[in-house]
Amino acid sequence: MFDNILGQQKIKKILSSQIKGGKFAHAYVFMGQDGVGKRLMAVEFAKILNCTTNDFTQTDIGACGICLSCKKIAKNIHPDLHLIDFAKQAELEEEDLEKQKVLKIETMRYMQKEVATKIHEGKWKVFIIDPAEKMNIAAANSLLKTLEEPPENTVIILIAKHKETIPKTIVSRLQTLFFQPLGQSEISSWLVLNCSINAQKAQETAELSEGSLEIAKRLVDKKEIEGFSLWCKLKTQNFYISEILEISKNTARTGALECVDAMIAEAKRDFRVYPREVAPALDSLNVSRALLLKNVNAQTVLDNLFFDLLDLKNTFTSKQH
Ligand SMILES: [Zn+2]
Repeated sequence: MFDNILGQQKIKKILSSQIKGGKFAHAYVFMGQDGVGKRLMAVEFAKILNCTTNDFTQTDIGACGICLSCKKIAKNIHPDLHLIDFAKQAELEEEDLEKQKVLKIETMRYMQKEVATKIHEGKWKVFIIDPAEKMNIAAANSLLKTLEEPPENTVIILIAKHKETIPKTIVSRLQTLFFQPLGQSEISSWLVLNCSINAQKAQETAELSEGSLEIAKRLVDKKEIEGFSLWCKLKTQNFYISEILEISKNTARTGALECVDAMIAEAKRDFRVYPREVAPALDSLNVSRALLLKNVNAQTVLDNLFFDLLDLKNTFTSKQH
């Protein structure tokens, strides 16, 4: 089962044996960093439970992938699969996707209504709440009520990065499965097979990917590599001033704006997790970008930028311990 999902052997083993024994939990939280397969695993779980050609208690094959149910789930048009996410909320509220910052109680009320509704055409209703840490307090309380009275033939899966971001009262009612970062060899083999790049490039990309397939895929786009790795280096290494000046000189020569843009993209990603720590760096990056667009000398801009970012490592190191 779950053969189409990269890595996560331990989780696959746990879920497969639960599914075969018919003893899976009514609610889970899939915990772990972005890009390690949490949502894919949840959707595959929904496929297996509803696949019409396989009896999931008898077979090790998992979902067939070709029956109507599997196809509908893959396209997210199965009436018994409910993705409770920002896209759904935007649809319900007729708003832009970009405006969705928290999962609101109205969205959870929609979920409650669907939970109470009879199953439509499948065998199991599956609700996937993603990202669960973005539920506001009212939304979390609403979910708690649903979890207190587990509905029949329903599996609820929360997707989240950190355990601390979800109220304990909720976590205590869920089975928690921790998704580990993917291995470098897993990622590099996947890249060779799926992105038509050679083994060496795949290995280099995997090393920079922090165990996330999502990051690895983005890095394959060559332009992003330089800025991305620079942001990672600044986050994780101490630099001598002479080294910073050298990096600045090289970057000014090879494409300052592209590099700053890629760093902004990465900074924004970290900002979602560590807003307070990353905000000053993001400000400096945006100022630098504006200056570069005004044709201010690239090396001067980058010198100032990298000095501003010299403290980044301390910020991140103190955060992680
Ligand atoms: Zn199927």
